[in-house]
Amino acid sequence: MNIQSTWQEVSAISAPTLEGSTQTEVIIIGGGIAGITTAYLLAKAGKKVVVVEKGNTHDSSVTAYTTAFLTHSLDTDLVDLKKIFGTRDTKKILQSHEDAIDLVEKIIKDEHIECGFVKAPHYSIALSQSGAEDFKKEKDLSNQLGFTATWKESSFFPFQNYGAMVLDKQAMFHPLKYINGVRAAFEKMGGTYFDNTEAKAIEGDIRATVTTNHGTVTGNAVVIATYNTFIQPWWYIFKKGMYKSYVYELTIPKGSIPDGMYEDEENPYHYFRVEGERMIVGGEDHRIEIKFDPENAYSRLRKYVEEKLGIVDYKIVHKWSGPILEQVDGIPLIGLYSGSYKNRYVETAFSGNGMTNGTIAAMVVSDLILGKKNTYAQLYSPSRRIRLMAILVKSRDYIQEFFNAPFDKKN
Ligand SMILES: Cc1cc2nc3c(=O)[nH]c(=O)nc-3n(C[C@H](O)[C@H](O)[C@H](O)COP(=O)(O)OP(=O)(O)OC[C@H]3O[C@@H](n4cnc5c(N)ncnc54)[C@H](O)[C@@H]3O)c2cc1C
Repeated sequence: MNIQSTWQEVSAISAPTLEGSTQTEVIIIGGGIAGITTAYLLAKAGKKVVVVEKGNTHDSSVTAYTTAFLTHSLDTDLVDLKKIFGTRDTKKILQSHEDAIDLVEKIIKDEHIECGFVKAPHYSIALSQSGAEDFKKEKDLSNQLGFTATWKESSFFPFQNYGAMVLDKQAMFHPLKYINGVRAAFEKMGGTYFDNTEAKAIEGDIRATVTTNHGTVTGNAVVIATYNTFIQPWWYIFKKGMYKSYVYELTIPKGSIPDGMYEDEENPYHYFRVEGERMIVGGEDHRIEIKFDPENAYSRLRKYVEEKLGIVDYKIVHKWSGPILEQVDGIPLIGLYSGSYKNRYVETAFSGNGMTNGTIAAMVVSDLILGKKNTYAQLYSPSRRIRLMAILVKSRDYIQEFFNAPFDKKN
């Protein structure tokens, strides 16, 4: 069994390391989906862009460890999003994810990227009666907000369940083939990319210099797309919480489960994608502060596959784990890093929706840098006020998480 993710079997494009000092218009720090998409959009708009990447995206990015669902089914329930943000902004949040899926599809078409992109349904599958009631509320609200959701009866699925909410025309792809394709297109447009070049400090604003472990880059704008910001204003620490998620890639008998993406209502929840004989299943998330033996998490995942999904005849192909960074009100921090800087931007806290949130970040930040109006900029601004309802909703979630947390008995 391979302990790398299945995506890492694809080779990375090699890149030089920065040496000496260089000048540009925009500096992007980090070459994951957020950074490289921002770099691509800016280069396409005619900007001179330099990307500095700490390691190599195939080894050091969280994008290498994703399960790569592209969906507007979000980590925070729709019912809660509406409580926190109200109707208008909840619609905007959903629309931004739809726009992101469209943009990914457009980039793939424009740049002829072969990355296994397929449109597929997303099922919120109920494994209990109360789960079905909750997912039916989500479905009704989704329809009220203008985003079509339907209901599939339990008989459609070959394991014990109570039906599922269905979002059609969501998508999945191979994230590192996509990253390779976007990066190749960026470099073809004249963009510059450095690997093994770690940003250590940023100085200045209108004209900012990024100091790395090898050299310096100076430019008019800096985008921090390093997953968890490597520098941050003190108040960011109140905004983010880090989790760990565990994944298996399995070979299962063909036709065991209909193709598509799935999530359930359990706490901690599970998610899986099925394409023929391939199943990638993940979950058992817990806050990183909780010390927990990973092997226990994997054993719980296997039990889930065997007992809840009824698949016993499977082969484990890969297993991996990775971090999930959540914002306290459930949506990411995208935009100006803080009120003190005019030209320093941040893209972070994407929860388990980083494929779309990373793409939204690229759309918003590239527009801000280009001086264009962006309809989502205010909504995702890192300086936004955290609403009281977010604290109430998330406090409820944290309490539930605490009681469901997989504490090791020996601790
Ligand atoms: C198990 C798992 C399953 C997931 N499933 C999904 C899913 O199905 N759908 C979905 O939408 N999202 C999912 N996510 C979330 C998603 O993968 C991430 O949110 C997303 O990949 C983050 O992209 P990024 O560009 O922000 O960060 P990264 O991909 O981590 O890229 C940041 C890059 O910055 C570099 N870097 C860091 N510090 C520095 C520095 N100082 N100088 C230079 N470079 C630096 C890093 O090396 C890295 O390559 C999942 C995550 C995990 C762990």
